[in-house]
Formats: sequence, structure tokens, C-alpha cells
Amino acid sequence: MITRFAPSPTGDLHLGHALAAWIAFDLAKRNGGEMLLRFEDIDVTRVRSEFYDAIEEDLSWLGITWSGVPWRQLDRTDAYQAALEKLQTLGVLYPCFCTRKEIAMMTSAPQRDDGLEGVLYPGICRNLTESEKQQRIKRGDRWSWRLDAAKATQLCGPLSWHDHRFGESMLDPQMLGDVVIARKDIGVSYHLAVVVDDAAQNVTWVTRGEDLLSSTHVHVMLQKLLGVPQPRYWHHSLVCDEQGKRLAKRHDALSLRAMREGGVSPIEVIERITTFL
Ligand code: GLU
Repeated sequence: MITRFAPSPTGDLHLGHALAAWIAFDLAKRNGGEMLLRFEDIDVTRVRSEFYDAIEEDLSWLGITWSGVPWRQLDRTDAYQAALEKLQTLGVLYPCFCTRKEIAMMTSAPQRDDGLEGVLYPGICRNLTESEKQQRIKRGDRWSWRLDAAKATQLCGPLSWHDHRFGESMLDPQMLGDVVIARKDIGVSYHLAVVVDDAAQNVTWVTRGEDLLSSTHVHVMLQKLLGVPQPRYWHHSLVCDEQGKRLAKRHDALSLRAMREGGVSPIEVIERITTFL
């Protein structure tokens, strides 16, 4: 069994991260497996260098250990590029020149809070002709690569996956929409990087918060398209504050650092987070 904890070094870990890390660590330990640590740092616009060490320090304080040297996604650009090219060869991607503003103006769909795009992309660039594409490129427009969900579904047929809490789930192409697989600004996306790395690190169990459940529809599709094994999943419940609100950046007081400095012990943290199991 190989599990992983994959934080983004964009801020201090809070109780929600501690639960994700604890589940990955404990599951591996109880099964004689290993937990890996991977820094999801592709979004260079948000990464801050001090958080790599801070995260390792917080985990060590909790007694959570990992195998080997932590991976950094910034070192993995070639692997993401190769995967992107494979998907392009399959004909399941198309370039999208739309800006966020244009998409927001063209759709009245409600905002989504599920780790996917803010809105389901209405497919504006899906059927651009070759000459239209060339025109946009000549004009200097930048583009992202989107998954053509309908084409991908046709190619893959029905797909399902297993989740420890939710059992067997069928992939719903409607959940996917034409998600961005490679962003304009960084040339990759969370979805592509996480699938490529989980496969490259032979991760057998993906444990993470249930806010990422809908992203799993994308990941299962990408695994099939890229021909890599599908791991098992455990989407755990989210740690909430006293008002029942999900923890976020505004809960600075519940960062592990602040709790440690305030005299809270690691045992108390573990006791508190495991009530959310
Ligand atoms: N990097 C994500 C986070 O910090 C975790 C993604 C995952 O576990 O797949 O929430």
C-alpha cells in the first residue's frame, strides 16, 4: 500500500490538512505500507518558499513521517508535457482562447465550489476551425488546453471507481464539463499533474477531502486515457469550525503553527481531527 499527502505550499497547514495527512499516514502504517509527501507547487503564482519547510516541520511535530525525499511538482514539467502530448494525440483536447471574464459573461451557471472550474465551460472554443485557431494565435491570444468531455467519454466508455466511504461510483461526464487540462499561465493543471504523479509514484490509495470528490471524475477519465492504473479512493469528511463552517484561510487560529504556539499538544490535535473520521 502506498498513500500520499499532497499539500500546496501556499500557506500554513490547518486542522483540515492535519486530518488528510493523518489518514494517509495511519492507513499506510496499519497496512505495512508507506506514505509519501508531495508538494503540489505548480501554481507558482501562489507558492511561497517558506512553506515547504514549515509543512515538514508541522508534520514532524504531529509525529507524521514519510518515505523518501518529498517530490516537488515543479521538477516534473517534462512528465506533464509528455502526458499532455499523449492526450493531444488521442484527439481529446482542444485549445481554448477564452478569458475568465468572457466565460463569466457567457454563462449564468451558478458558481461551483467543488474543486472544478467556477462554472461549467459552455464549449465556446470546442468547434473552432483550423483557420480560426490560426487567426487567434497570430493575434497573440494565449490558450489553455481543455478536455473534450464528450469525445473522451466516447473513447473510454462507462467508468467507475471505488471509494472507502461512498462505495462504487459511476463516472458522470456531466460532472466533468470541458475542464482545463493545461492552464494558459503555467502549462499544466492540478488534474493532469495529480494523475501523472500518483501513477508515477505507484500510489495505491488516494486519501483527500470530500471537496475534491467531483475532481475524481476527471482523474478517473484521465487515468483511463493515459493508460495508468486507477488507485482506490478515500474522500474524508471536512473539518469544520464550531459554527459548522469548513476551515479556510480565515481560520488562522486553527493553523497547526498557531495551535502549537498556543500550547496545544499533538495528541490533542489528533484527538480533535479524528472525531471527523
Ligand atoms: N493539493 C491539494 C490540497 O492541498 C490536495 C490534492 C489531492 O490530494 O489530490 O488540498
